[in-house]
Amino acid sequence: MQGVYLDHGATTPLDEEVLEAMLPYLKEIHGNPSSVHSFGSKARKGLNEAREKVAAALNASPEEIFFTSGATEANNIAIQGVARALSSRGRHIITSSIEHHAVLDTVHYLGQVGFDVTFLPVDRYGIVDLDALVDSITEDTILVTVMTANNEIGTIQPIEKIAEICRERGIYFHTDAVQAIGHLPINLKEQPIDMLSLSAHKFYGPKGVGALYCRKGTKIGQLCFGGAQERKLRPGTENLPGIVGLGRAIELATSDIENKSKNLAALRDRLIRGLLEIEDVRLNGHPQKRLPGNVNVSVLYVEGESLLLDLNLKGVAASSGSACTSGSLEPSHVLTAIGLDHQTAQGSLRLSLGKSNTAGEIDYTINSMKEIVQRLRKMSPVLKK
Ligand SMILES: *Cc1c(COP(=O)(O)O)cnc(C)c1O
Repeated sequence: MQGVYLDHGATTPLDEEVLEAMLPYLKEIHGNPSSVHSFGSKARKGLNEAREKVAAALNASPEEIFFTSGATEANNIAIQGVARALSSRGRHIITSSIEHHAVLDTVHYLGQVGFDVTFLPVDRYGIVDLDALVDSITEDTILVTVMTANNEIGTIQPIEKIAEICRERGIYFHTDAVQAIGHLPINLKEQPIDMLSLSAHKFYGPKGVGALYCRKGTKIGQLCFGGAQERKLRPGTENLPGIVGLGRAIELATSDIENKSKNLAALRDRLIRGLLEIEDVRLNGHPQKRLPGNVNVSVLYVEGESLLLDLNLKGVAASSGSACTSGSLEPSHVLTAIGLDHQTAQGSLRLSLGKSNTAGEIDYTINSMKEIVQRLRKMSPVLKK
């Protein structure tokens, strides 16, 4: 066996068709899209077409799409950009307690330089409390940022309701939609979302490229200065091969979403059922409102890191919480926010499925887990209270 890759939440392999679309831009088409000569216009054509594809996938307009180096940068531009543009109007920002670090660390920073930040609580499934949102809004609130779906536990937020609450009160709403692209339908002509971040390598595109959707008229200040690329919001010569790859990847990812999600969710449920057959294993996240590829479990009386290493020896690639927290001793802020105690959080595992996974791989993973958990629990019975 080649190895079972169950870490699509961290990154996905590059789709063959995406690579094919990128190759001409790594070989023949080397011009700078800003140049006036024919080399430049060829490059510019590729850039424009990619922008149209991203816009079409989200039902937005091309001039509302800004290419970035990924979602980390897109989140920073959106959040810090609004903070800069609107600081004279208000200095209060609302987010959730289970955001990705690209959002959390950005608002923490703003908290240090004079902004007030509210971290909304979530219920035991990871769903944001809408009453708390409404209650926390003040005259000073300029931005609400809540992720579309969580990268660790897969919980899908009621972002349409959140967006409506914000729209009614004239407050900007940004969402980190990285994990949703290709799994949940997005329609920005209908959803009152002002800004949205995405990253290509989470949906079979290349690493190091992403985009920020910014609704026409949204006031946002630039963070970087230099050229006029991306209408000055993200200056610097464009990563054209990456951008072309992103265009093709989002086109593929957003076609036939319903069927693909249904099939992936069936595999996910097969894995969940199998894992829950093991004694003292609990599912984290919402049983229904969850990403079709996400499984997150707590295996009581076992160390998550040991599980991860033993799974790796069997050729199964999974993750403990998010990639960024892996290797650190701090329990995941997401698992803590849904109420897990330190020890239960430490024994947690994320298995994120993708389009190449098979039922055979899932069954192999279940059997491997059964074996490993039994052995680990025998080895360290002291953990059992
Ligand atoms: C992966 C991820 C990011 C960061 O994307 P980069 O490509 O590393 O910039 C942000 N938010 C979520 C929810 C993610 O899963």
